[in-house]
Amino acid sequence: MTTAEVVLARCDALAACTDRPGRLDRQHLTPALAAAHRLTTGWMTGAGLRTWRDQAGNLCGRVEGREPGLPALLLGSHLDTVPDAGRYDGMLGVLMAVAVVERLRDEVATWPCALEVVGFTDEEGARFGTALMGSRALAGTWDDTWWALRDADGTTLEQAARDFGLDPALVGTAARRPADLVAYLEAHIEQGPLLEEADRSLGVVTTIAGAQRFRVEVVGEARHAGGTPYPRRRDALVGAAEAVVLVERTVRDSGAIATVGQIEVEPGAVNVIPGRAVFTVDLRAATDAERDAMRRTLLTGITAVCAARGLTVHVTDFYEAPATPCAARLRDALREGVAATGDTDPLDVWSRAGHDGMAVSAVTDVGMLFVRCRDGISHHPDEEVRAVDVAAGLDALTTAVRAVATRTGTPAGVRA
Ligand SMILES: [Zn+2]
Repeated sequence: MTTAEVVLARCDALAACTDRPGRLDRQHLTPALAAAHRLTTGWMTGAGLRTWRDQAGNLCGRVEGREPGLPALLLGSHLDTVPDAGRYDGMLGVLMAVAVVERLRDEVATWPCALEVVGFTDEEGARFGTALMGSRALAGTWDDTWWALRDADGTTLEQAARDFGLDPALVGTAARRPADLVAYLEAHIEQGPLLEEADRSLGVVTTIAGAQRFRVEVVGEARHAGGTPYPRRRDALVGAAEAVVLVERTVRDSGAIATVGQIEVEPGAVNVIPGRAVFTVDLRAATDAERDAMRRTLLTGITAVCAARGLTVHVTDFYEAPATPCAARLRDALREGVAATGDTDPLDVWSRAGHDGMAVSAVTDVGMLFVRCRDGISHHPDEEVRAVDVAAGLDALTTAVRAVATRTGTPAGVRA
């Protein structure tokens, strides 16, 4: 078997570690996660890594550099999944990292840094309704209010941690200092179709977008559906419908992306003109500046189409995460890696989805490599990657890791 085939076979083996037989569900601090840790620990040990589980539930491994205790170049991704998941989102990046360490293990002993692998937990946040708890613990941005969160069965996070063999009082020991780390590199499936459309195996991530979410309330007047002539109607739903179409039309070719995922209408009766409609907008762009500019454009347009119908508009922001730029030195190293596979003009892409790197960026520079997935399908059992793309990804990541590690401590390796 080629190394890529080994990685894919390991993804298949991990897919059997599930909380719900018949499909892949592997949530934070469950028996399925423990089973995935046991399998992955075996592969990590085989690759020469010394392994441990930190007090947040992340699985970690380390190979020392030319002397013990040097700062580490961290590789990894996550081992938890969404409900009814595919077998590559997260796991592929962890297992590619293990395979890269296996290739480089003899070289690492001469490097000015150590090499580590982390399999994060709770990237998806499916069990407790949060996300990135594992990477937030590592980045030292843990929030103690999370201990009281409850899963669907009423179990608190604190109890789940104890049941998993963790000591909540020690979660702070999972935190790493900036001086402990050289950088973080993650390989991940693209979860979109851009690489496939561009006929590329790999892409270099420029930024990880942070979503901005706001609620738009359109207020008109509820009246009798039969008795009110059109000139006298102030129909909030028709105004909202125009606004939704405007959102799509405005954003569509802009490079940003927006989704109206919820809409509610009041009073919601078959024979009453809607007096109030409320819809949500999830807006993402490569940079915060582009996203904020698009938000202003959208709100101007929405207000205008509603005003033309005698409707008023109120906007409430309810979620915002900043975009995370990938560090230039890591993007350069990944571009070198992709170029070495024969793709001499690597494709830059911005990540429309969130990733552990958003949290890890609080403590060290982050870089990401995307691997093509079939038809852009993700968060679905039909997720699929090809061995040829994984092979290219392994080669690119190996080159990038070597470049970053061996430049550590030189001017080129100093954190920007
Ligand atoms: Zn993921």
